[in-house]
Amino acid sequence: MMRNIVSGNWKSNKSITEARNWLAEMGEAMDKLPQNVRVMVAPPAPYLAVLVKEKHSRLLIASQQVSASGEGAFTGEFTADMLVSCGVDYALIGHSERRSNFGETDEIVSNKVQRCLEAGLGVVLCCGENLNERDAGIQEDVIKKQLESALNDVKEGSMKSVVIAYEPIWAIGTGRTASADQAAEMHTYIRSWLSLRFDEQTAKNTSILYGGSCKPSNAEELFAREDVDGGLIGGASLNSVDFQAIIRSFK
Ligand code: PEP
Repeated sequence: MMRNIVSGNWKSNKSITEARNWLAEMGEAMDKLPQNVRVMVAPPAPYLAVLVKEKHSRLLIASQQVSASGEGAFTGEFTADMLVSCGVDYALIGHSERRSNFGETDEIVSNKVQRCLEAGLGVVLCCGENLNERDAGIQEDVIKKQLESALNDVKEGSMKSVVIAYEPIWAIGTGRTASADQAAEMHTYIRSWLSLRFDEQTAKNTSILYGGSCKPSNAEELFAREDVDGGLIGGASLNSVDFQAIIRSFK
């Protein structure tokens, strides 16, 4: 079970030409990058099928979005089954930008998790507290509530398809990174919560990624911590050289 993962999240960035160039640069570099880490990228949805077709075999592809519903009259939505049929490996669920800008409630997040797991699609489940919650010292309560809700119906056997990304909202796209101590503290909390909710082995096998202004200059310190299994990388994943440097931060 390889816990280490570095995943890019391009958000709404890049033309298809830029996406292809990034893919070609990564393809050339991939065999020289550390082998003890899984590498993934979440491009904008229109590029998913192209990237699946042209990618290096080691690169995993994630969708930034997935429907909470099944097939039917849901204009603009696409289902977990559709993603699986296109060769997509994972879906990001519960990203704070989706929660705050697109009204994704804990209930919607939980439905999406279920849909993905039923379809055989991996889940990158994002959780994180805002600055007021951090300042009030209630960050663990916030994360607990998000995890309890999102994983409410999940059986321990399905947890092999779930990756957790701890992303303090105050660190996303702000240039302000959580300190290695702050990240490690929360990751340890999440692992102990997983151990109580499921069992020790499940907790041990689950990848817990850090997200929030992670970049080449701070990745090594973050990834060196016992419970930090890698990162979900926004801005710094757009440039393949920076992204590769982050992957190389694994010793
Ligand atoms: C993200 O969008 O998941 C993220 C962590 O963004 P950034 O790295 O730009 O803070």
